[in-house]
Amino acid sequence: MSEVAIIGAGVAGLTCACELLDRGIGISIYEQAGKLGEGSCSWFAGGMLAPYCERDTAEHEVMQRGLLAARWWQKHVTGVTQKGSLVLALPRDRNELERLSRLGKQCRWIETPEILEIEPGLADFSGPGLLFPDEAHLNPRNALQDLANYLKMREVSIRFGQAVRPEDLDAKTVLDCRGHHSHDVLPGLRGVKGEMMILQTEDISLTRPVRLLHPRQPIYIVPRDDHQFMLGATLIESSERARFSVRSMLDLLHSAILLSSSFGEAEIIESGVDVRPAFNDNIPRLYRKDNVIFVNGLYRHGFLLGPALAIQAADAVINPDQWEELPQCA
Ligand SMILES: Cc1cc2nc3c(=O)[nH]c(=O)nc-3n(C[C@H](O)[C@H](O)[C@H](O)COP(=O)(O)OP(=O)(O)OC[C@H]3O[C@@H](n4cnc5c(N)ncnc54)[C@H](O)[C@@H]3O)c2cc1C
Repeated sequence: MSEVAIIGAGVAGLTCACELLDRGIGISIYEQAGKLGEGSCSWFAGGMLAPYCERDTAEHEVMQRGLLAARWWQKHVTGVTQKGSLVLALPRDRNELERLSRLGKQCRWIETPEILEIEPGLADFSGPGLLFPDEAHLNPRNALQDLANYLKMREVSIRFGQAVRPEDLDAKTVLDCRGHHSHDVLPGLRGVKGEMMILQTEDISLTRPVRLLHPRQPIYIVPRDDHQFMLGATLIESSERARFSVRSMLDLLHSAILLSSSFGEAEIIESGVDVRPAFNDNIPRLYRKDNVIFVNGLYRHGFLLGPALAIQAADAVINPDQWEELPQCA
């Protein structure tokens, strides 16, 4: 019998697994899919570790809890790039940037000549921006694989192809990390659909995530290896995870072309859709029921807040006082 059994090998399950192993706790991990990423929302994430930019739409708590993310990821995976984030707007939308700049002191204004200096690929773009120099990003797919390798090196293999329920497992504690799949047992857990694309072009290169604030379709573009770019993402109140609408695709691509016309010639090598698990306030949290801790509600912050939630989950597993403080699941 392992001390802790974890259900789900998305970012929640794998960050919890590593955090518990780091503290010397024996774990086992079960994943219903046949391989890493399949059926997991985490596979479609942009991988931005951007606590200050997220302050634009998220609570102060999200920023605070996200501050430790870059350091946690650097300890566990390769390929964390810390070159900051660039947030741009068309001249007519400058007030959007002004609003964001008033939320904190972690950014500075940057005008066209300097934007071109740090990101020559944005030669077409004319407009003001904000640079958040301390933010980071990673490739979520590589990061999940690195976490799986980290576990394997410590002789923990993910048991793929096993759809399990907490009551099936013989463990002192079970961590239920099934993302939106837990909506039947977690009251208030809803789905927020996100659509994304991966574009490939050699005509532009970027070194850091670039966000475009736009009244209709704000976007971000995260550079990846092999001249690839993750273009994301829609935020739609829906639990439907199959259909990529024409409007969403047009809006995302339209905004990408506003950043650089080179994206107009890019190849669309992938389009993906999944459902972010979210509670009413979009803040992740833990619930407990009997010997089960539910680790959920990561919304659009799986990689940003996964480490903080995993630390909290490990604390609760180890420390009975913190366990008692967790809200009971109905
Ligand atoms: C388009 C898009 C862009 C995003 N961009 C970012 C970003 O830039 N930064 C960021 O921090 N976050 C981002 N997110 C959010 C992030 O992806 C989610 O918050 C995160 O993936 C949620 O992780 P999770 O582990 O809770 O769920 P999941 O990743 O869905 O993992 C749950 C796992 O549980 C497994 N499972 C389900 N039922 C069972 C069962 N019965 N037995 C065994 N296994 C089971 C599933 O197969 C799955 O692998 C984005 C999301 C989307 C959709």
